Amino acid sequence: MLQQTQVTTVWPYYNNWMRDYPTISHLAAAEQDQVLKSWEGLGYYSRARNLHRGAKFVMDEFGGALPVTVTELLEVPGIGPYTSAAIASLAFGETIPLIDGNVLRVFARLTRLKTNITLTKTRSDISLELAKLIPLKYPAAFNQGLMDLGRAVCTPRNPDCANCPINQTCEANQAGDMEDYPVKPQRKSIPHYHIVVGLIRRDQKLLIQRRPENGLLGGLWEFPGGKIEKGELGEAALLREIKEETGLDIDLGWEIGTINHAYTHFKITLTAWFCDWISGEAQRFAATENRWVYMDELKDYALPKANNKILDILAK
Ligand code: SF4
Repeated sequence: MLQQTQVTTVWPYYNNWMRDYPTISHLAAAEQDQVLKSWEGLGYYSRARNLHRGAKFVMDEFGGALPVTVTELLEVPGIGPYTSAAIASLAFGETIPLIDGNVLRVFARLTRLKTNITLTKTRSDISLELAKLIPLKYPAAFNQGLMDLGRAVCTPRNPDCANCPINQTCEANQAGDMEDYPVKPQRKSIPHYHIVVGLIRRDQKLLIQRRPENGLLGGLWEFPGGKIEKGELGEAALLREIKEETGLDIDLGWEIGTINHAYTHFKITLTAWFCDWISGEAQRFAATENRWVYMDELKDYALPKANNKILDILAK
């Protein structure tokens, strides 16, 4: 949960998660819809799907006991190099370096590293260097100490070098150019998309569609719609998108409202409309499933945050 997400955001989700899935077997036995619902609002939904898949794998292949070594942990779906090293080192004391953003920053400043830290090669070189330093007796304390140093002292802006326990050996501190490290490539500008979606009414029910498993917001349910093309009006885009996504003919009703939402690699401005079904049976050209549901049933489905923001407008 903490990958890409802050502790304060994660805290209530973590408590609810541990209440609902206290053991690996509880998680493995849950339905995927229930798991996604528990994750709703936390983002990066592949993490929830991977945890669920991983729990099933551990039940099937390891009799429900989480493996303790990096080699075996890497067999579990969803557990990659970082997570396997974190579990093996912090929970089971395996002597293996742990590389996160905080550790990279400390190491890059300590050595005034000139290479781009986003490159895999740079990270594996740093891992090799740290492997020479990690003490056999206290690997978890070493890893946790470096991560905490980066989080609390060697911060991205205004590092507290005066109170840093390794300031005497830190090359960037000696040179006074701490904030020049780590070296990263220039950030590209984030694209901004304008989206329009329809809450299509038929017999008091609304149409929702399930997104494909793989990809952004995989497995979540959403109102049909899509991007407004350049030079296109929102209403025209909605009619076109609904036809392309569902095959339905609709009448435009009224505009519910507009919200803004930011994902990691792009931003959206989303406008939602109430629409009325005229004819046709709902197809699922890009979606994996269609469902007509009553408004008060929507709370039982895991929806993307942007869709929930529209429901918040309606609730007001
Ligand atoms: S001395 Fe400053 S730059 Fe160097 S590791 Fe410590 S906090 Fe970071």
